[in-house]
Amino acid sequence: MIKHHPSEQLLSQYSLGELPATLSIAISAHLEFCTCCKSKVEALEATQADTEFEDTTSPFDNDDFADMLSMITEKNDVDAVAPYESEVFSYQDKELSLPRAIAAIDRSNFVQLGKLSRSRLKLDDGEMRASLLQIEPNGEIPHHTHTGFELTLLLDGEFADENGHYVPGDFIWLDARHHHQPTTTQGCLCFTVVNSALHFNKGLSKLLNPIGNLIY
Ligand SMILES: [Zn+2]
Repeated sequence: MIKHHPSEQLLSQYSLGELPATLSIAISAHLEFCTCCKSKVEALEATQADTEFEDTTSPFDNDDFADMLSMITEKNDVDAVAPYESEVFSYQDKELSLPRAIAAIDRSNFVQLGKLSRSRLKLDDGEMRASLLQIEPNGEIPHHTHTGFELTLLLDGEFADENGHYVPGDFIWLDARHHHQPTTTQGCLCFTVVNSALHFNKGLSKLLNPIGNLIY
């Protein structure tokens, strides 16, 4: 069962369209796993729509709005919308379909370092970088903390750290207050968003920097 969800604040910002692209993709993807957050967002969107229509400063006065609706509905040469065909994504020995929001964005080839490999989504979102991250069975990310934030959405497989054991759909938001060492026995595929490098707490940072660069 999914135990880790986006905060109410993130869900609200998401429904208002206020989030940067990378975070918006992460929330969309979580909603494909989580009916609970999906209904929360639907409720938020319904409330916001009501507020918009009650708003007397709305750019649409009644006539304009009626004109706009008739313009939309009179157009009968509506383009057929191609049905979404989910792409089969293979990793390690497994196949799955990626959440639509993630599959829709181009990404680089996987770059591998030991049991870790990363493919970056081709998004220009400032310091925020979104990636698919695979960890092979019995792999780990060395003990670290975060100079910014690190969001992990587990897409497939499992991993565990000092704070718990995670299942697909878990949305894990960590920052400088958290130290952890994720490990997986079966292997996993995650969607990650980070906005600055990791900080390794143990071992020689010189040796760990390539891992930090891979993950950021
Ligand atoms: Zn949720």
